[in-house]
Amino acid sequence: MNAFKRIFLLTILLYTATLVFSQNGRAAENFTSTEVADDIYVVTGPAGNTMVAADEDGLILVDGVPAQYADEYLAFVEDVTGIEHVKTLILSHWHPEVTGLNAILGPQGVEIIAHENTRQWLGTTIRERGETVVHSPMPDNTLPNRTFYWGELDVPFGNDVIQVGYLLQSHTDGDIYAWVKGADVLYTGPVIRTDSWATVDETTNGFIGGITDAYDALSRIVTEDTLVVPASGSVIGKVEFEELNAMYTALKADMVSLLRQSFGPDEVLEANPAQGLKPQWGDASAFLDEGFRSFYGHLRNGRQIGGGFP
Ligand SMILES: [Zn+2]
Repeated sequence: MNAFKRIFLLTILLYTATLVFSQNGRAAENFTSTEVADDIYVVTGPAGNTMVAADEDGLILVDGVPAQYADEYLAFVEDVTGIEHVKTLILSHWHPEVTGLNAILGPQGVEIIAHENTRQWLGTTIRERGETVVHSPMPDNTLPNRTFYWGELDVPFGNDVIQVGYLLQSHTDGDIYAWVKGADVLYTGPVIRTDSWATVDETTNGFIGGITDAYDALSRIVTEDTLVVPASGSVIGKVEFEELNAMYTALKADMVSLLRQSFGPDEVLEANPAQGLKPQWGDASAFLDEGFRSFYGHLRNGRQIGGGFP
């Protein structure tokens, strides 16, 4: 297909998407929304999905957006819900694609909920593999101001409750999910994507074994009735969730096998155990590379990779 045809096709697709959304929800320049349950919206933008729970006395935002979209996003969700006040922001992890609202909402005194590790990462200098600075400390008044370490934390939402739970070391070491219990809508954060690979951030202790553990943990929540909202891509149900669970479990087993055969990261990329699995997701190199390197911090973890490593 030549470039002109591709652009033409893309334009048609985008136009169709806009038409669909204008029937079921609203669209702005960079955001679209769909009401997936009463007063619960999935808002999709350039960095993926966020979830908005519209309580009478204020909005509960589950994940933010990159800083350059912050103003547009806040105006959009206020327009969609008709509620101007944000009372709570819940962060699935520390990455800039979800923490760009902090600089606006933190100084306003909005409650910002996250795992304690997420607060610590946001407040410190992060260097990729000890070298390149990938994050500089954010001001204190923009950091999460309500954190937890183990277990779960409940956030009231009308007559319902949003359970926020820790997913241990998965995409990072501060990942959490947010489950609206009564409505049964589960926002998973980046351990699940339905349009791309669930990469781990090895720099802040993401771990491929933690991704499969996170699937295990979430599978105790997901039933036939659950709407699963991934960090990016379309909303799925239990069948698709279990299909992804099985795929990542098998893929991790393949990578463990390569590790035990003393493959290095470059050889794993060459062997490409992800080949043919999700061609529509594109190149799996980042997932394989970071995922494989993440084993190195866990060589004594017999449950994940078997015994026999010193
Ligand atoms: Zn991330």
